[in-house]
Amino acid sequence: MAVIGCGLIGSSVIRAARASGAVGSVAVGDASEAHRSEIAALGYADLVTGNMAEAVGNADLVVFAVPVLAMGPAAAAAAAAMKPGATVTDVGSVKVSVAEALRAALPDTVHLVPGHPIAGTEQSGPAAGFAELFRGRWVILTPEANDQPDYQDAVGRLSDFWTALGAQVDTMDAAHHDLVLAVTSHLPHLIAYNIVGTAADMEEVTRAEVMKYSAGGFRDFTRIAASDPTMWRDIFLANKDAVLEILGRFTEDLQALSRAIRWGEGDKLFDLFSRTRDIRRGIVAAGQESAEPNFGRDRAGPAEAPKP
Ligand code: NAP
Repeated sequence: MAVIGCGLIGSSVIRAARASGAVGSVAVGDASEAHRSEIAALGYADLVTGNMAEAVGNADLVVFAVPVLAMGPAAAAAAAAMKPGATVTDVGSVKVSVAEALRAALPDTVHLVPGHPIAGTEQSGPAAGFAELFRGRWVILTPEANDQPDYQDAVGRLSDFWTALGAQVDTMDAAHHDLVLAVTSHLPHLIAYNIVGTAADMEEVTRAEVMKYSAGGFRDFTRIAASDPTMWRDIFLANKDAVLEILGRFTEDLQALSRAIRWGEGDKLFDLFSRTRDIRRGIVAAGQESAEPNFGRDRAGPAEAPKP
């Protein structure tokens, strides 16, 4: 296996693959010298290099785990050295534009099966990774429309790989993935970035007060709003259409809530809050709850996670 981009997700893939015995040797390609040193010191990889072509040279499975807008350039740097018949996947949080960028850069001789593990934390970098990150979490694969037996074998092998890492695998159309994630992950992050920015800009509320009284719900937003700026800038730019569509719906619903508050329509508020409480209970019942609320970027439970 070769992993290109070895931060939180890439290093978790390596740790989980090593722990499960799903792979033989592991090569890592990463643009960051500091991260390469960290990975080498962790001892999970047989080869750590800044040369992407060198990393993928012998790999049967190549996993791109760089920020969404870096997928195309990273694939272009590795493409010429890829082994014919290799399975190539990614872990990007957006699927339509990433699949297009990868397909444009890669040779036709490899099997591209885009993917997205719905698992993560607000941390980044290799030290933040852990082997249990994917345990019990969903991985969504968005295979190409290709019914050739070789391609279907690659999809099956990749699905088995994620299952070995403890995940549950679903397949989905890429555009549908992007709409679903816009609701469950991207918009909640945008709201968190916005509310923390608003609080910081309010001159009559001091920074000290924001820290002191943050238990009232704000604290959870600040944790989400601490998520990696590069990663989230890329996600919003790469999933522009779906995020804007969902943001339009959200804004309308917020206006309706605002009207209900203005006109004292307590029943409307109570009905909505009751419905949302049921949704929360459904998430807990589905086993997708983690120790702290994190708006869709779930992570493993506290027992395993050395985490954020
Ligand atoms: P990360 O911790 O920042 O790691 C990304 C690594 O890739 C860094 O070492 C980075 O180096 C390196 N890199 C950047 N551009 C590169 C290039 N062109 N070639 C080679 N290496 C390059 O990021 P992450 O949180 O693991 O996220 C990686 C991917 O997983 C993203 O696409 C994200 O959407 C997806 N994802 C993240 C989460 C999450 O919770 N974090 C969850 C699910 C999916 P520099 O630091 O020098 O840029």
